[in-house]
Amino acid sequence: MKPVLMCCNVSVDFDGFYALQGADLKVYPHEVRFLIGPNGAGKTTLLDVICGKTRASNGKVLFYSHDITDMPEHKIVRLGISRKFQSPSIFHQLTVWENMELALKQDRGLFAVLQAKMSEVDRDMIITLLQRIELLDYADQKAGSLSHGQKQWLEIGMQLIQFPQLLLLDEPIAGMSAAERERTGELIHEIARDCAVVIVEHDMDFVRRFSKQVTVMHEGKVLCEGTMEDIQQNEKVVEIYLGR
Ligand code: ADP
Repeated sequence: MKPVLMCCNVSVDFDGFYALQGADLKVYPHEVRFLIGPNGAGKTTLLDVICGKTRASNGKVLFYSHDITDMPEHKIVRLGISRKFQSPSIFHQLTVWENMELALKQDRGLFAVLQAKMSEVDRDMIITLLQRIELLDYADQKAGSLSHGQKQWLEIGMQLIQFPQLLLLDEPIAGMSAAERERTGELIHEIARDCAVVIVEHDMDFVRRFSKQVTVMHEGKVLCEGTMEDIQQNEKVVEIYLGR
């Protein structure tokens, strides 16, 4: 199987400080990959490079073998890589439905935004996605009235409407209740039926519960990869991160 994503020897130089120093990552279709590591390890910078927010000073990023290393952010989104940041960027004054509608139209450009009517197919798609993120019953409510977890799910729904092939999530469960965390873990695995997911996560209980493959980063590089059981056996990981 061909990887969805390959980061090969990626470095990022912030005026002489290397946030990434030759990081490698391969992610396969339908995979849920957790990125963990101590603060400052370079996890967020790696997501930034993948989505085009930060330029790599060395190395390559390939998306289905297509070189996207120097591609601008908006073109990378169009290719099918979607990035969700830590705090939800939704429109609080609009309803849940209107947020989804806007995300759909934005994806299609200005002409769609100006068009008032939506097709039945589009409506069905929004309904299906709202069911998936458990917000169909909240469709007519203002997004600002949702719980923190529901706002995060809404934003995930707004990303999914663009049918990404790769979804990048930065600490998606931060600030969520226990029940919302559990649902988010399940949701991430449901999403992976359609697209690969890379998640930066600090909550180790969540990683233990929902991970299959974990990549540990340290000092701008990948330290090791494997199942949680594998990496817990790695002495260096225990020393620098898990602590024991
Ligand atoms: P992590 O997500 O693993 O906590 P980051 O990728 O956010 O790590 O940061 C890696 C290192 O790069 C940190 O030391 C951070 O201070 C530094 N860094 C991140 N962004 C910038 C920037 N724009 N300019 C300078 N240094 C940065």
